[in-house]
Amino acid sequence: MAEATTDRARLTVLAGPTAVGKGTVSADVRSRYPDVWLSVSATTRPPRPGEVDGVHYHFLPPEEFARMVSDGEFLEWAVVHGRNSYGTPRGPVEERLAAGRPALLEIDLQGARQVRQTMPEAHFVFLAPPSWEELVRRLEGRGTEDAEERQRRLATAEVEMAAAAEFDHTIINDDVTRATDELVALMGVTTPERTA
Ligand code: 5GP
Repeated sequence: MAEATTDRARLTVLAGPTAVGKGTVSADVRSRYPDVWLSVSATTRPPRPGEVDGVHYHFLPPEEFARMVSDGEFLEWAVVHGRNSYGTPRGPVEERLAAGRPALLEIDLQGARQVRQTMPEAHFVFLAPPSWEELVRRLEGRGTEDAEERQRRLATAEVEMAAAAEFDHTIINDDVTRATDELVALMGVTTPERTA
C-alpha cells in the first residue's frame, strides 16, 4: 500500500561501531531536535549513573525481556557485545510511523540487519569514525571498559566497519554537531525546533 510505504520511509536507523559516538549523536538529536522521535530501547543491562528509566532505556529484568521476545513485541533485538540483550519495542515505532512522524532508532549492526529484512524502505545510516586510530582513541579515552573488554569490542568494530557498504548513507562523526545536523537533514528535518 503506497501510504504505508511513505510512512515506513520515515524510519531512520543509525548504526555504527562501538565508541563511534552513536549515543552522543542521539543525545544531541534529543536535545536540539525535539521534533525527531527517538525510540527508547529495552535492555537487560543495569542503568549507568545518570541514566533514567524510560528516557535512556527501559531497564528490564531478563524474564520480562524474554517475555517480550516470545510475544513478538520487538521490532528487532540482539545480544550486544556478548553480554546484555537490547531491543526496540515495536508498538511505539509503529504508532509514530502511522502518525507520519520522523522516527530514529539507534541500534547495533545485528539489529540494523533485522530491520533491513522487515522494513527495507527505512533509511539506513552508518556512523563512522574519522579514522581507525581515532576509534581506538575514543574507546580508550572513555574508560568504561577494561583492557580485555576493549579488545573484544575492537575485534567486533573491525568487522562492523566493513559493513558500512550495506548502508544507504555514511556520516563521518568528526564533529558531533555537524554529524547530528547531517543526520536530521537526511531525515528531512532541517530546522531545530524547541519545545516551549
Ligand atoms: P550501551 O550499553 O553502551 O548503551 O549500548 C551498547 C550497544 O547497544 C550500542 O552499540 C547500541 O547501539 C546498542 N543498542 C542500543 N539499543 C539497542 C536496540 O534496541 N537494539 C539493538 N540491536 N542494539 C541496541
